[in-house]
Amino acid sequence: MWSTMQDYPLTISSIRRYGTEVFGHSEVATFTGDGVRRTSYAELGRRAARLANALRDLGIDADQRVATFQWNTAEHLEAYLAIPSMGAVMHTLNVRLSADQLVYIADHAEDEVVIVSGSLVPLLAPVLPKMATVRHVVVIGDADLSALSSSGKTLHSYEELLAAAPDTYDWPEIDERQAAAMCYTSGTTGNPKGVVYSHRSAYLHSMAACTGNAFALSAADRVLPVVPMFHANAWGLPYAALMAGASLVMPDRFLQAEPLARLIEDERPTVSGAVPTIWNDLFRHAREHESDLSALRLVVCGGSAVPESLMRSFEERGVHIVQAWGMTETSPLASVAHPPPGVADPWPYRASQGRVMSGLEARVVGDGDRVLPADGATVGEIEVRGAWVTAAYYKDEDSSKFNEGWLRTGDVGMVSSDGYLTLTDRAKDVIKSGGEWISSVELENHLMAHPDVIEAAVVGVPDPRWQERPLASVVLRPGAEVTAADLREFLAARVPKWQLPERWTFITEVPKTSVGKFSKKTLRQMYADGGLEVVRADS
Ligand code: ADP
Repeated sequence: MWSTMQDYPLTISSIRRYGTEVFGHSEVATFTGDGVRRTSYAELGRRAARLANALRDLGIDADQRVATFQWNTAEHLEAYLAIPSMGAVMHTLNVRLSADQLVYIADHAEDEVVIVSGSLVPLLAPVLPKMATVRHVVVIGDADLSALSSSGKTLHSYEELLAAAPDTYDWPEIDERQAAAMCYTSGTTGNPKGVVYSHRSAYLHSMAACTGNAFALSAADRVLPVVPMFHANAWGLPYAALMAGASLVMPDRFLQAEPLARLIEDERPTVSGAVPTIWNDLFRHAREHESDLSALRLVVCGGSAVPESLMRSFEERGVHIVQAWGMTETSPLASVAHPPPGVADPWPYRASQGRVMSGLEARVVGDGDRVLPADGATVGEIEVRGAWVTAAYYKDEDSSKFNEGWLRTGDVGMVSSDGYLTLTDRAKDVIKSGGEWISSVELENHLMAHPDVIEAAVVGVPDPRWQERPLASVVLRPGAEVTAADLREFLAARVPKWQLPERWTFITEVPKTSVGKFSKKTLRQMYADGGLEVVRADS
């Protein structure tokens, strides 16, 4: 028997319509470095319609790909609303990718138009001529276009195009399973792989982000996505904010601690999201300058393991960090680490990767694809499936990342009977020492809890006796005098002796990937090339 219910498509177009009509007075405030410029959601809706008209005039009339090369701004939000709503596909280019990777993904996605922030023109200029399928480039704001003039592409001014276009658009009916947006994983190995989100997956993901077990977003919130809109759709925060009527505060290119702290003081966002390195820097700045972060009721942190020490430091300043886990392939939110109510000690839950959201399932899989118990203790590869998990990569025959309808995440960890996920490592970062596994994440978390340590990354390096042993790369607080032996002793109180690193190196900064995570590949390479000054501490 079929239901009697209407088959109402779940689309980004309906998020756009609802957000910009019902919450027309909510606003997006974009940081300019010394103030903000404001656009109401009503105006945002009109500008999205103008953009859609302008894109149609450039020949976008079906599911062509329109790329964005932008920081988090009101204009990027206009693209987020206009492109999928007109039935086209938004491809957010990660501005931090290497030139080769940018050209690869623009060609692979067959992008036809690129909308670029004026401040990013110098980054786009050298790669643009190589982007074979791109025909038009639309430049936002004032920029010196001379660098683009020999690219062979037709150049346009964003504001001129919008000014000439009508502020209403005959938005099409869209099938919820149609492609809405695409994002490439940053590809730590091999070429980046494309994930294509549907309208339905984006809609359901936004609803999930709004629920109380996630971020409980409402029209009373002001959301500051620090995580870039080119990184897994800024964790879905922009669409979720539109759906909830929450205003948005956009940091543009000002992602350093000092301007961010000022933005938080002036614009008083209630919810924000960024990777741990950003919060780490912001915390140190806020402590030194007595910044007022009290407006934040919830800080979402993820992308890599969130050190408990970081969460505790923020808690002391009255700011609550919640850890979330996910990946580009999962839209990206998959689990959120709110502790169960009433537990005596919430910290083990908060330090986990969180409870899997309704709409998704997670399981632990061992050798030979054997499904292991979800008992909170048995470790294996985590697999997920659900309404906003990709079932394949775009134009890619390789099915090795999928297992009978489940996505192999490449993350290693355990799932508890009440749905909490705890990761011990990424499969490729696990350190295999004499047949036993050492969790690099656990060692890092302990090290980063040391008062003199700012950052610590642990990687496996070849060892003649044990196959692999941990190498600890540590960034010390300026002026700290702690030695490798001291840190080893500090760790000895916390992990089994056989896991203690004997190789240590003190560096000024941990190298980061294009999305701000520790680049362990770079560290391993630096070690292999003899580029690290390693001291031994065995006892
Ligand atoms: P990339 O693979 O390019 O880093 P993603 O941003 O999709 O791109 O990264 C997803 C991965 O990030 C996950 O598979 C996991 O390894 C890691 N990750 C995300 N959130 C967390 C978290 N809270 N704790 C530990 N690892 C995390």
